[in-house]
Amino acid sequence: MTTTGATAYWCELAWVPPGEVASGVLVHVDDTHITAVERAATPPPRATRLPGLTLPGLANVHSHAFHRALRGRTHGVPTATGAGRGSFWTWRERMYDVARRLDPDTYHQLARAVYGEMVLAGITCVGEFHYLHHGPDGTPYDEPNVMAEVLVAAAREAGLRITVLDTCYLTGGIGAPLSGAQMRFGDGDAEKWATRADQLRGAHAKDHDVVVGAAVHSVRAVPPHELATVVSWGHASHAPLHVHLSEQRRENADCEAAYGVSPTALLFEHGVLGPRTTAVHATHLDEGGVGLLAGTETTVCLCPTTERDLADGIGPASSLSRAGSPLVLGSDSHAVIDLFEEARALELDERLHTEERGHWSAPELLTAMSESGHRALGFADAGLIAPGGWADLVSVRLDSVRTAGADLGRAVDMAVFAGTAADVVSVVASGCPVASNGHHLRLGDVGALLTSSIQTL
Ligand SMILES: [Zn+2]
Repeated sequence: MTTTGATAYWCELAWVPPGEVASGVLVHVDDTHITAVERAATPPPRATRLPGLTLPGLANVHSHAFHRALRGRTHGVPTATGAGRGSFWTWRERMYDVARRLDPDTYHQLARAVYGEMVLAGITCVGEFHYLHHGPDGTPYDEPNVMAEVLVAAAREAGLRITVLDTCYLTGGIGAPLSGAQMRFGDGDAEKWATRADQLRGAHAKDHDVVVGAAVHSVRAVPPHELATVVSWGHASHAPLHVHLSEQRRENADCEAAYGVSPTALLFEHGVLGPRTTAVHATHLDEGGVGLLAGTETTVCLCPTTERDLADGIGPASSLSRAGSPLVLGSDSHAVIDLFEEARALELDERLHTEERGHWSAPELLTAMSESGHRALGFADAGLIAPGGWADLVSVRLDSVRTAGADLGRAVDMAVFAGTAADVVSVVASGCPVASNGHHLRLGDVGALLTSSIQTL
């Protein structure tokens, strides 16, 4: 990673601990980290001036980069009979069509463009839930982790940090073998998955900008007797462990029929839940499930724009939050990439569901987008504009047609409840300026890169 050495940024306004908007904030940076934060009424010479409201870097905790190729193609068509509306399961077939076509080169090109889009949206770290491990028929590549390595390369070229959540994916459904496009997801068994994941972890053991974590795809894709192997791999490396949980009611029904318990209870019984674990979606939970997640301090990653696009339902986010589960956010299928939209959807969906307002404040939502998100990705020292933290500075315009007229003391409310990814004007990630005036400084025209990498597929 190219770094800039010692430098300073002067923020017109910045969101600083313990959660206040301050004006005239001078942030000193050495290499990748913040060394000091002080007040300065005017920008000193040589400090780079950051306009608008500067926030800590945002963490996109749940991503499948290749799903971006489906945007605008799979959102359902209203018909008189309902036959063309689509469902989660018809969407999954379209997703498999894309999964079949990718090779290391096209995956690299697409991921680089998608991560470029993320940077322009203020995202400085991505959690890539990665299961496209092998060739289309399941044969490993000569370099068994080449598909993960192109993701790491793509993230570095785009200028954000990455947590590769190396995903164990063994069955095509409970008791069903892998078939079709799923063949390339599977390692055979959890021991073979662990051997390959070990190689990936070893290759990045000395990298500060890459975390290799583990994932259980879901209770649909990993049989109970294989779960302990993934859990111990995560414990041995103190790595984050992520798992898709109860996104669709059918998963609950299949799990109950096969094992007599809910997916949450099954994961609990096999030691999958805990403080380093993030459950993604957690949409269809009963009260017992909420208690198991919160009682084990499991983080929950909501992906509201994907969950509404796929008609998953609205999860019990405020019950989880009240019971003690930290909440984080992800753009998952990338129907849109905009964490401001994800954050306010968390609050606004809850309002529709409960007919009550005020479940989370804007600073609480911002914490989910930043500090809590980075922690769920294994970067505990990120997500705060404070000494010792990663030097991620995301500046949001307060003069766009969406954000103009802010009460400056409550500028975070304006950013979270009215701002969009398009209002992000500049991004410093890991101490390097990567976006300025809404343009990516390394990749250039990210729209053109998205067009060409998606057309190739
Ligand atoms: Zn997912």
